[in-house]
Amino acid sequence: MSFERNEPERIKAEGGAVGPGGIITPSAGISNSHYVNPHQGDTNLFYPNNMGRFFFVAMEELLGKNGLNAVLNLAGLSRFINNYPPNNLEKKFSFANYAAINQAIEDFYGVRGSKGLLLRAGKVCLERALTEYTAIAGVGNLGMRLMPQNIKVKIALGVVAKTFSTISDQSSKVSETSEGFIYENETCSMCWHRQTTSPCCHVANGVLIATLHWATTKNYRVNEVQCMAMGQPTCRFVIDKTPIE
Ligand SMILES: [Zn+2]
Repeated sequence: MSFERNEPERIKAEGGAVGPGGIITPSAGISNSHYVNPHQGDTNLFYPNNMGRFFFVAMEELLGKNGLNAVLNLAGLSRFINNYPPNNLEKKFSFANYAAINQAIEDFYGVRGSKGLLLRAGKVCLERALTEYTAIAGVGNLGMRLMPQNIKVKIALGVVAKTFSTISDQSSKVSETSEGFIYENETCSMCWHRQTTSPCCHVANGVLIATLHWATTKNYRVNEVQCMAMGQPTCRFVIDKTPIE
């Protein structure tokens, strides 16, 4: 897999402003209102530290250090500047932090610009996680090579859901309908206590696209059709059963 690295150039092309050192000018107002999402309760949930770390490393790769520092300042998380979460499985990186960074990125880049960026961040996170864990877990070869494409997709989605549900407080499940495979977050870090008018869990979307590419070498369309930040009961992603030609 290869990903476009020159994010500031793309932001400029889309009408955003990039200052010296990759500092990007906010394109939308900043909301600090506290909102308790009825579907996620008011108790903070956690990812393992390394999931937070992979996200920071991915964002640094896409924005440059200065760009990420600006995002962290805006998110009220300057304590993480040059101080990323450690590479371990302790569940200490909060959904509140994750959501604040996602919100700050949306505030900086606008709804449209942030979507492309967060999708790519999800893909880079998945690359990092695979590099880190496939050797250890021996899942580099799931014996999937000869399986029908649809089964590979189903197994890969199941592995992602099970991984999140096991090592983090993100509860995910997979099902299948006539419209496609359904990946659903019942608790979700990206939209944690946020209110939006369109689905905003793009990192998960990127992780799913990259996982399916890894498992099948094909590109699948993944579409978030409902989101808890819009008041819906789960964050729901529909995955087409046939890859994009
Ligand atoms: Zn969500």
